[in-house]
Amino acid sequence: MSDNKISMNHGAGGEVMANLISSTVLDNITKKSVNGGISLDELDDGASIPLGDYEIVVTTDGHTIDPLFFPGGDIGRISAAGTINDVSVMGARPLAISNAIIMQEGFPIDDLDKIMKSLNETCMEADVAVITGDTKVMPQDKLDGIVMVTTGIGIAKKGEVIRDSSLEVGDKIIVTGSLGDHGMSLMSFREGFGFETDLKSDVAPMWNIINKALEIGGVTAMKDPTRGGFANAINEMASKAGVGVVLEQEAIPIREEVHAVSEMLGIDPFEVANEGKVVMGVKADKADEILQAIQKEKYGENAAIIGEVVEGDYVIINTPIGGERILEAPIADPVPRVC
Ligand code: MG
Repeated sequence: MSDNKISMNHGAGGEVMANLISSTVLDNITKKSVNGGISLDELDDGASIPLGDYEIVVTTDGHTIDPLFFPGGDIGRISAAGTINDVSVMGARPLAISNAIIMQEGFPIDDLDKIMKSLNETCMEADVAVITGDTKVMPQDKLDGIVMVTTGIGIAKKGEVIRDSSLEVGDKIIVTGSLGDHGMSLMSFREGFGFETDLKSDVAPMWNIINKALEIGGVTAMKDPTRGGFANAINEMASKAGVGVVLEQEAIPIREEVHAVSEMLGIDPFEVANEGKVVMGVKADKADEILQAIQKEKYGENAAIIGEVVEGDYVIINTPIGGERILEAPIADPVPRVC
């Protein structure tokens, strides 16, 4: 990394970003939690503030995606879904978002209109309100297009917030659908590949799926595998809990088109962002029931049980030919500006 300046890797969700956050953010902030709720130090998908019988869950997310409109979505959909999903994976019902828009002078008003319609549609899927916001414009040469910052607020019963750090030995790991769709589709779209593919982003709100799993019970830990992809999410979950995970490669859903693009670009589908997926640890005796409930939901038809939590220090993938390999967290996201 170069000398004392921010590089693209500092925003890529991997180890480089984690080091930057810990040295510049965490060390400089004094008060990092309220009423004993989930704190900034925990670097979870969101934080919580216990109030009476409930916990308010809060999360915030900046969106710098390029291009603004892509197969399967746009910056409006991703701003809504990303924030709704970060609240939802905390086990909290998303209630509302705030939305700050920072635009370049000259930005087409028609595009802003499309983006807001898309944001609204996505919020309506999860019955989430947009209750406040902010609009700023910057001179043409100071900003590229539009940046949106969304903050999400949700609610859970006290003590029922779900962390990304609480996997337990014996849990089954569920993914709610095929991995790598968002990162790979964006990458192939940006590269202007001519090959015939109907690959598109999976960007979608996950609350309805998560709500079904929560109603059944037995969900121990959750995370949405966005930047850094599934490899980052599952490694973070395992290392925070001090456990190992064993995965069956054949059980992990990946689309044919994602495989194809992945081989062409030399990018691992496990390392790119998903914007409409959840990684869940669930109690073994609830796993089948939860899986079936998810599969009946919109966006959940390809859900699968892909492995289990074991004692150990690594995430290991059993390959179809009887071998095994360690799945490591990526150093940085190989595909920048995907969310
Ligand atoms: Mg997240």
